[in-house]
Amino acid sequence: MRRIEESNSLISKLNPDNYQLSNPAVRAEVEKLYGGLVEEVGHTNFEFKITGGDRYIGSDGKVYSSTDNSWVQNSKMNSKHLIKNGARAVDLRIRGLDEQSFYKALERTNFHPRGIFNGVTRYTRRLLYEYDRHTHIFLK
Ligand SMILES: [Zn+2]
Repeated sequence: MRRIEESNSLISKLNPDNYQLSNPAVRAEVEKLYGGLVEEVGHTNFEFKITGGDRYIGSDGKVYSSTDNSWVQNSKMNSKHLIKNGARAVDLRIRGLDEQSFYKALERTNFHPRGIFNGVTRYTRRLLYEYDRHTHIFLK
């Protein structure tokens, strides 16, 4: 039980706005990513915050956040954030780190090594949301 409480405590710290992340593998891998980053850089003096989680398609055919039922304007209909697609994606705001450390830590997780870091996409620009720059990663 103690291990679970500690684990919940870490994910809660990384998710201060309580975005819904129903997939336990996503929660575990976010913790692993954070731990890997701390190991890579040797300190915790950086920003790491969950800024997006599960989504669903409403009866009107639009994509909504499972967290607060708000319309997610730029979400794709096949988004990996969707619960029907396994709720495999998470959005993060990470600042104060070099990009290389981020990708080293990411490679130690089961997240797909593609995303946006400090507003710059490593492998593709298709995922860059101009109105809300963030890192979008998802489980393979
Ligand atoms: Zn996303």
